[in-house]
Amino acid sequence: MLLSVIVPFYNEEEVIYSFIQRTTSVLDTLPFDSEILLVNDGSSDATLDILKRFQESDPRLIIIDLSRNFGKEIAMTAGLDFSKGDAVVIIDADLQDPPELIPELIEKWQSGFDVVYAKRISRKGETALKKFTSKTFYRVIKRLSRVPIPEDTGDFRLMNRRAVDAIISLRERNRYMKGIFAWVGYSQTAVLYHRDPRYAGVSKWNYLELWDLAIEGITSFTVAPLKISTYLGLLTASSAFIYGLWIIIKTLIYSDPVAGYPTMMVVILFLGGVQLLALGIIGEYLGRIFSESKQRPLYLINDVYSVGNEGSSGTQSADSNS
Ligand code: UDP
Ligand code: MG
Repeated sequence: MLLSVIVPFYNEEEVIYSFIQRTTSVLDTLPFDSEILLVNDGSSDATLDILKRFQESDPRLIIIDLSRNFGKEIAMTAGLDFSKGDAVVIIDADLQDPPELIPELIEKWQSGFDVVYAKRISRKGETALKKFTSKTFYRVIKRLSRVPIPEDTGDFRLMNRRAVDAIISLRERNRYMKGIFAWVGYSQTAVLYHRDPRYAGVSKWNYLELWDLAIEGITSFTVAPLKISTYLGLLTASSAFIYGLWIIIKTLIYSDPVAGYPTMMVVILFLGGVQLLALGIIGEYLGRIFSESKQRPLYLINDVYSVGNEGSSGTQSADSNS
């Protein structure tokens, strides 16, 4: 049995040492062989150099150096593509996901589950605003989408080979991984844990990026906004029709044709707003069709560093499935 651990790294130089210490000491206690896939997502600090230093002394470590920063969702995908394990664990580098939970994930996997995800019962070191926005987002996407995305769950999880193969067969460019994980289905279960604050360094997400991720999640997994805009359009059109009738009748009875500048402004602005909103929603989907239709590979690789391959592979693209 082989266990693969996938870790995305983006400017994480301060945490590498502790991360590798804690993770390898957990893996040492397990009765499996293991590989740790360290995906360097275009870090601009010393992350790659430090990773290389560790890789040279531990044959379990494999570095996948992406050609630039592609974002966490793609970095995880690259790791999944390279993983060979019978089970795969995805974990953050910043030790917010405790590696000590891995044996518990494995236990559930061995009792027959395909996917074991770690669910947070608490989140230390996050602002109240972040907790609130995150909660609201999970509520919204739950209402809108038919794919059951579990609440309070990040990317920290274990998946067996069957689930991983299913995930890497989905080659969409707009990758909202939490949705993709849920989409494949199979038997899933949760393990509860307390999420620690970041060990060192800073979060790589600001609110704008989180907003983008939320839009990505919603548009990738449901067309509900398109439907809502259709109904909103129907609603405004029918109320406009009724209001129009009322104006005609009023004019016929009282013959008062010029008054009504304020109502006209209100109606024009309201309809304009609704139309722009609907156009914007269509645009979100259109933009995604555009980026899918270009059929670009998901990522490019600079080099792979593993035992017997010290970064001589040159530039390659790994998108074998599309
Ligand atoms: N990460 C990445 N590429 C990015 C941003 C983040 O690979 O463009 C990695 C990062 O190194 C970390 C994980 O994704 O291992 C989670 O990032 P972070 O801790 O910044 O997110 P948060 O926990 O604040 O949601
Ligand atoms: Mg983090």
